[in-house]
Amino acid sequence: PKLYVQRYNKVLELLSRLRPEKVVDLGCAECKLINLLRHEDYVKEISGVDLDGSLLRGCSHKLDPQAYDFLNKRFNPLTIRLYQGSVSEFDERLRNYDAVVSIELIEHLLPKTLEDFPQAVFGYINPKTVIISTPNADFNVLFGLNGCFRHWDHKFEWTRKQFQSWCENICKDYQYSVEYDGVGVDPDKTQNFGYCSQFAIFTKLQDSRTHFHEPANVKSFQLVSEAVYPF
Ligand code: SAM
Repeated sequence: PKLYVQRYNKVLELLSRLRPEKVVDLGCAECKLINLLRHEDYVKEISGVDLDGSLLRGCSHKLDPQAYDFLNKRFNPLTIRLYQGSVSEFDERLRNYDAVVSIELIEHLLPKTLEDFPQAVFGYINPKTVIISTPNADFNVLFGLNGCFRHWDHKFEWTRKQFQSWCENICKDYQYSVEYDGVGVDPDKTQNFGYCSQFAIFTKLQDSRTHFHEPANVKSFQLVSEAVYPF
């Protein structure tokens, strides 16, 4: 499968082991992952957040229940909401979410937004699981990019070492543990470079009691669409 499909498959595989009831996809773009995730029976609430409201409005219709969904009802209820907002901000409605997914998002963030991202996600949402993917710059030599990025809108591309040091600081600040994984090309063939897309899977430490102050000004995301599935 194509690389982006491999990324979704990896996320679905990881989530199916954890069976979270509430999942938020940060930087959900065309909502392709949400459209796959909605078929999982364990999930009861999915939210997608993206800065690009018109992109969300353009694809919200594909998340509406179809005839099929009325004929083959779900075991569990499911509501999908799309919000226009920035991942550097916290919205009350994401409190108590079990899992946060963020696929190929962080490399698009400006420095200040990237700086605020960990507190918004790990501090305020504070979910059991966070799955983040980003390009692996070590792999770029195989593309012959000569120091260029893979996409014009990337603000950076991190080596495995850079990504892992960012992740480890988050673990220290917010009491999480982290494991690394990836997708793209058999690692035996590209041993020295790792995977094309690198993944970090964070797990909240069992006994961690985080006491973060409420953000001074709670920004509210704008609800773009809501789909309620029959069950
Ligand atoms: N996660 C998507 C997927 O796997 O199909 C792809 C993500 S796309 C490469 C990056 C997305 O991040 C874009 O849709 C962009 O609008 C969004 N984005 C960029 N900065 C953002 C921010 N500060 N808050 C929320 N979304 C942002």
